[in-house]
Amino acid sequence: MELKGKVALVTGASRGIGRAIALRLAQAGADIALIYASNGQAAQEAAGQVEALGVRALALRADVSDFAQAQAAYAQVKEALGAPDILVNNAGITRDGLAMRMSQADFDRVVQVNLNGAFYLTRAALPDFVRRRSGRIINITSVSGLDGNPGQANYAASKAGLVGLTKALAREVAPRGITVNAVAPGFVDTDMTAAMNPDTLAQALKLVPMGRAAQPQEIAGAVAFLAGPDAGYITGQVLRVDGGM
Ligand code: NAP
Repeated sequence: MELKGKVALVTGASRGIGRAIALRLAQAGADIALIYASNGQAAQEAAGQVEALGVRALALRADVSDFAQAQAAYAQVKEALGAPDILVNNAGITRDGLAMRMSQADFDRVVQVNLNGAFYLTRAALPDFVRRRSGRIINITSVSGLDGNPGQANYAASKAGLVGLTKALAREVAPRGITVNAVAPGFVDTDMTAAMNPDTLAQALKLVPMGRAAQPQEIAGAVAFLAGPDAGYITGQVLRVDGGM
């Protein structure tokens, strides 16, 4: 129960990696705010699973890519659960396609959700973190943002942007006792990878030395470490959780 009494805000927590993170942080004793985009049923189910672990849960619908909605969601969380101690920017989308044929809308939307969304929630949380002189920010990037991946110019750019955001902010707020780190998963067994062409996924998994995709819980464990007391002196880092890629 290392996080007992803490409040964690996890974006994209209705499904997949975000839900696993919410449950893992709840297991460690944190109260959890779960932000989702549209899947209210999944979000309520995830919140129920969190509460079953004996902590408080609040599921909130908000589009993180909308500055006003992000601010309003943060304020609602603060009102209901208290100011968060941990912010996990996990919400993310893909709109894959070759750059030559990619629409402006598909490029813009992916960057807006994956990168701007993380900044908007961070911007909402920072004044409280700075005032309290503590806080943990964990951004979920991707190996795609570190190594590149054909068909993902928009996604890789957004995830590389998150790495820059992580490193710049880490230096900025380190004197205030706040750490900022990123976790870079490889392939993870979620709806996002289920939407991939099965042949492309099979080919991609051949490049994973461990020969399999990660389970969402394996990403959540890394996030819990970075949110916990053992990671107090770690900041500005990108932790790859990728089966050896
Ligand atoms: P997922 O199963 O598709 O779930 C995406 C989550 O993000 C859902 O909770 C969704 O809410 C939420 N979301 C999407 N757009 C949003 C918005 N505009 N505002 C608020 N919430 C929004 O995805 P996942 O595979 O768990 O991925 C989670 C994160 O890990 C993403 O950042 C992804 O890029 C990253 N990642 C994934 C993999 C992988 O292989 N799966 C690998 C590397 C990195 P709704 O349920 O309401 O739609």
